[in-house]
Formats: sequence, structure tokens, C-alpha cells
Amino acid sequence: MQIEARTQAAIIDGKAIAARVRAQAAAAARELAASGVIPGLAVVLVGEDPASQIYVRNKGRRTIEAGMRSFEHKLPARTSQDELLALVRQLNGDPAVHGILVQMPLPKHIDADRIVAALDPDKDVDGLHPLNAGRIVLGKPGLVPCTPQGCVILARHVLGEDLSGLDVVVIGRSILVGKPVALLFQNANCTVTMAHSRTRNLPALCRRADILVAAAGRREMVRGDWIKPGATVIDVGINRIAGADGRSRLVGDVAFEEARQVARAITPVPGGVGPRTIACLLLNTVQAARTIAGRRA
Ligand code: NDP
Repeated sequence: MQIEARTQAAIIDGKAIAARVRAQAAAAARELAASGVIPGLAVVLVGEDPASQIYVRNKGRRTIEAGMRSFEHKLPARTSQDELLALVRQLNGDPAVHGILVQMPLPKHIDADRIVAALDPDKDVDGLHPLNAGRIVLGKPGLVPCTPQGCVILARHVLGEDLSGLDVVVIGRSILVGKPVALLFQNANCTVTMAHSRTRNLPALCRRADILVAAAGRREMVRGDWIKPGATVIDVGINRIAGADGRSRLVGDVAFEEARQVARAITPVPGGVGPRTIACLLLNTVQAARTIAGRRA
């Protein structure tokens, strides 16, 4: 269990867990390399969004550190949908590329759904293709989106592998986070409630949760008295606010100081769910490389 013991809730150390997952991905990549397959991850960035540029740089660095090949495609914001589709098709056919990640958000003139649908589902390491989304619904193996996968892994670090029968409340029902998180916990035999902006009496609902996942994008919305004593709290939200010193800082969807008086364990923001995302991406790339190698055999 990767948690730091405290008098209040244990703080789940997402960075340490991420480092362990990256080491696991690197070991799997070495094994594949020994059989002649070096996993390759292509990341496509359209435009100059500063946050996306940082993500892409970090992804490239971590990919190389894990002994994999990194291919970066940086395209200008004016890139047309057809040009992007042509690149996706080229990467689909490139035998050195096993994973393709198109960094979101895309410029408004590009239909993100069309781009995602054009990906080879076996190379869709972000787990966004409708086929991979459908596999989660069916409870079949496939490429699982990284942030939702991270939520389940963090819960297992606190509560152990078997989450059967636990009550889970997920705040948020987005395609990217809320829905896949809810389905993954359901596949782990939890009893899951998905809440959203129209949910009635959200605090009372949250108080029933053994595992509370907050993914609403509303700063510090979840208060201490929304939390069942001893619950595990996974805070996915990332909200930038101005600090007292005038500098901006990140906070989650959970009022951290209040929540840690009540919870058993809680993820901090930053340093909780976030670091897991790139680590899961590397694992997904290894999984994709195995699938594609099997397809060619
Ligand atoms: P979306 O805006 O797409 O979805 C937000 C969801 O929260 C919606 O389903 C919405 O309900 C619900 N919601 C909004 N306000 C409330 C409220 N007051 N009460 C109950 N439910 C509410 O966001 P995402 O799912 O993309 O992201 C959620 C958060 O997670 C964001 O802060 C984002 O930055 C963060 N994030 C973090 C990642 C990480 O690696 N840590 C990765 C991805 C996202 P409705 O459907 O009714 O509108």
C-alpha cells in the first residue's frame, strides 16, 4: 500500500505509484525488445496550447526513459481536418508505431470524434475509440483510458485488489472521465452511482460512498461533511485558482483540508491522479505493441 501514514487521512502518493508503474512498463518494453519489437508511441499535437505542449514534452521524455520509441508530430493550428486524418492513417499503417495519441483539445475547426474514429483501435492508447469504449461497457479486455484506469489502481492501492461490494459514487458523467471510471468500478464488482449536475441531494449521496471519485471540474465542491468516515477519496479535478500571493495554484474538486479529517485516504491535487496518466499511457503502449505483434504473427 503506497500511502504515507498520518494522524488524519493517509495521503495517496500518486507520484510514487506512477514511478512503479513506469518501471513495470519499462520492464515489459525490455522483454518485447528482446523478441525484436520496440514499442513506439506517436503523439500528435495540433496548435500551440501551452499546457498541451508541456504534456507532450513530458510524454516524449517518459517514453524514451522507458526504452520505447517516441515520435512527435507537431502541426500548426491551421492544419485541416483532412491533413490530420491523412497523418492518422499514415501512423495506423506505420509498423514502428504501436500507440497513437492525438492530444486534446483539438482546434475548433477539427471534429475530434472523426479523428478518434479514424484511429486503429489497437493503437488507440488513449482508449477513446468507440470500439474500446464498447469493450469497457461489455467488460471485455481492451485499451482503457488512462485517467479512469488510474482511479481504480489508486483505490486498489488503499483497499487491496478486491473491491467487491463497495459503494462507489462518481461525481461526473463525461465520456473522458466519469463514465469510464464508473464502468471500471462496476467491472470490479462495486455498486456504482454516477452523479452529475442534475443529481438531487449530492452531499447525502456522497456520504454513502466507500470510494468517492470527484470529477466535476468544480473547485473544492466536495466538503468534509459530504464524506463518509473512513472513505477513500479520489480527486480527479484540476482547477487553477489565484493564491494569496497572487500566483496561481492547482486545487481539486475536494476541500482537501476538511476531507482529510474524515477520510481514510485521499489523493492530493496536484500529485495524486495526474502523475498516473503518463504511466498508464506507457503500459497501454506496451499492451498495444503486444496486440499488434500478435496480429502480425
Ligand atoms: P467535463 O466538464 O466534461 O464533465 C464534468 C462532469 O461533472 C459533468 O458530467 C457534469 O454534469 C458534472 N458536474 C459539473 N458540475 C457539477 C455539480 N455542481 N454537481 C455535480 N456534477 C457536476 O469534465 P471532465 O470529465 O473532462 O473533467 C473533470 C475534471 O477532471 C476537470 O477538472 C478536469 O480538469 C479533470 N481531469 C483531470 C485529469 C487528470 O489526469 N487528473 C484528466 C482529465 C480531466 P453534467 O453532465 O450534468 O453537465
